[in-house]
Amino acid sequence: MTGKPRLAVFKFASCDGCQLTLLDCEDELLALADTLEIAHFTEATRTSLPGPYDLALVEGSITTPEDAERIERVRADSRFLVVLGACATAGGIQALRNFGDVRGFTETVYARPDYISTLEHSTAIADHVPVDFELRGCPIDRGQLLEVITAYLAGRKPRIPDRSVCYECKARGVVCVSVADGTPCLGPVTHAGCGAICPAFRRGCFGCFGPAREPNTPALVRLLREQGEAPEHIARVFRTFNAASPAFRAAAESVDDPDREVRS
Ligand code: SF4
Ligand code: SF4
Repeated sequence: MTGKPRLAVFKFASCDGCQLTLLDCEDELLALADTLEIAHFTEATRTSLPGPYDLALVEGSITTPEDAERIERVRADSRFLVVLGACATAGGIQALRNFGDVRGFTETVYARPDYISTLEHSTAIADHVPVDFELRGCPIDRGQLLEVITAYLAGRKPRIPDRSVCYECKARGVVCVSVADGTPCLGPVTHAGCGAICPAFRRGCFGCFGPAREPNTPALVRLLREQGEAPEHIARVFRTFNAASPAFRAAAESVDDPDREVRS
């Protein structure tokens, strides 16, 4: 033990992209390494020290019975637990299984499906243990990650704006692709954080930062219909990285069930 705050980074079902965002911090990472003791971070070091940890960063979703047990131990060992990315906050792309028959998938893909130990659903970390902060994105933004880490080190709440991608378009002077071009865009219902990368390149947002706070998805679904999008395409745009987030899931189901859209 060094007397410095202890950081641990844990991976569950994921692509490692959010952990790589931490390594991608480069110059700031050296300053962080001076400030923190990196007790466990398999992506970066073979050092693996037991808890307790002051701050645990958790990437990935819960997809196996072993995951469900391990996250309980991580929570018990950690003073603050921050989850990173669409996998950890909404079940990730692997939550597409939640809409199908998992047994059918394994029997199709694997010669010995009886060897596969998996849960029927991919779920967010907060579905299993209390979480102190959810950082959105697929992958997360490095500036936001540094803000979250320094906030917890300083004993304050992270300053992560809880607004939509539309706000970021306005802030950087990007012309609205939906109004100007009729391009389908999930920006109005998507959490800010990326700096409106896609609209800046004249592309619609496809929602990789997940739902904004109180997203008006029924209004966006109506707009997408008016723009000529087929119902199955509208459902599909809500079923990507954050398919199992409650707001995007409800939006996709409302397209499948027109009566439900009228009610919402
Ligand atoms: S949120 Fe995206 S980038 Fe991060 S681990 Fe999951 S799939 Fe990878
Ligand atoms: S899809 Fe949306 S949230 Fe993701 S990078 Fe593009 S504009 Fe940002």
